[in-house]
Amino acid sequence: MTLVDGQWNGPILDNHFHLDRVGRYLDAAADFQRVGGTDLVLVHKPDFDNLPNSVEEIRQAYENTVAMAKQVRLECDLRVRVVLGPHPAAWVHQCASLGVEESNDLHLQAVELAIEFCEENLAVGVGEIGRPHWDVGDEVFNRADEVLIEMLSMCKKANVPVQLHLDANGEKTNREIAKICDHVGFPRFGAIHHHAEANISKKFTHGLTSSVVVGRDSIKDISDSIWQNEGGFLMETDYMDDPRRPGAVLGPKTVPRRTQTLATSLIGRGLDAEAVLRAVHIDLPEALYGEYE
Ligand SMILES: [Zn+2]
Repeated sequence: MTLVDGQWNGPILDNHFHLDRVGRYLDAAADFQRVGGTDLVLVHKPDFDNLPNSVEEIRQAYENTVAMAKQVRLECDLRVRVVLGPHPAAWVHQCASLGVEESNDLHLQAVELAIEFCEENLAVGVGEIGRPHWDVGDEVFNRADEVLIEMLSMCKKANVPVQLHLDANGEKTNREIAKICDHVGFPRFGAIHHHAEANISKKFTHGLTSSVVVGRDSIKDISDSIWQNEGGFLMETDYMDDPRRPGAVLGPKTVPRRTQTLATSLIGRGLDAEAVLRAVHIDLPEALYGEYE
């Protein structure tokens, strides 16, 4: 039994977590572990002050993320999966600094390299890729979708899931991305919507896998919409480990804490909390990323 007296004692996975050697780094991972966290999905964090301009520089940046994951596994007694990829915000910046063609090329090469890391079992997915989250105008926005289509085709061929960084236009965003997935033949299930809203009903998510950012009100919204969910959901903090913006996102202890709140909420509604939490923290991550090796 992993649920005893309303308390979840099983694995707890944060599906979108960044670490930075100049941030709290190992201390942040240790905080997560101390309150019951067991599994991190460490997502590559681009250095926006010093973006890579060549494949070789991208490789070095990826290797740094892989090395951090290794150190966290050793020193914090955590299972750490790695997701690597070029950030859509970096693509926008580099369209301005390098030109559109070169930025496109560089970012497609970054996906190709991330896929290579997946094939070597150093990573389990590609991300975060997708769309800029601020208003960039229709032209840039449409161009971002064209690049995304190419990236998804590559990931489809390689059979790897993606973590998507998207604009925050609710159901409209999900509907458009689901359409893009269908167009490419990329399974909607493998399109993991990072920083997703807590409405997990299928008519809102359109079958994308929601990685819900678990702010204070999220538990009620998850519980309200779980009846209409299909395919499950994940929980994340989007922890950024940015010393310049310490409180900008949720702290590293949030997913373990909200997991307990969710257990209480589901039990209160007469739902099978154990089945839901098993899916969130064990079965769905394994279905998407494979068993932890
Ligand atoms: Zn992120």
